[in-house]
Amino acid sequence: MSEYIPNPAPTPRHYLDEQFWEHCAKGVLAFQCCLDCETWRHIPRFMCAHCGSERWAWRESNGRGTVYSWTVCHMPMSPEFESIFPYAVLVVEMEEGVRMTAGLRDLDYNDLRIDMPMEVVFEPLKEGGQLPFFRPRGG
Ligand SMILES: [Zn+2]
Repeated sequence: MSEYIPNPAPTPRHYLDEQFWEHCAKGVLAFQCCLDCETWRHIPRFMCAHCGSERWAWRESNGRGTVYSWTVCHMPMSPEFESIFPYAVLVVEMEEGVRMTAGLRDLDYNDLRIDMPMEVVFEPLKEGGQLPFFRPRGG
């Protein structure tokens, strides 16, 4: 088994997306948070959807959430995934209130349940950087 996961690296086209992935590369899950109403947001964008403020900062997530939904991919959509399909992709509702999509680790997808407690874990990419995944957490 390779020391790297086979996933292709993210190719952000915008500096806000770049900053999200730069945090991931350091093993930090961070989301934007509005400085006026304290509403967290993801995916990255300029303005708060709650109050319209353009004042925000990156804040570190505690990495904890619960399963909101998932899908199982039975066909590899690119050659990189031929060695790992079928695989699950989760939507996890984070404790900060945002929802985030990532792959599953340390659990058979047949055992997934709505509201299952999850935590983020990072894995290294060959091209550099890291990708977030979710794994079950106790309690
Ligand atoms: Zn706001």
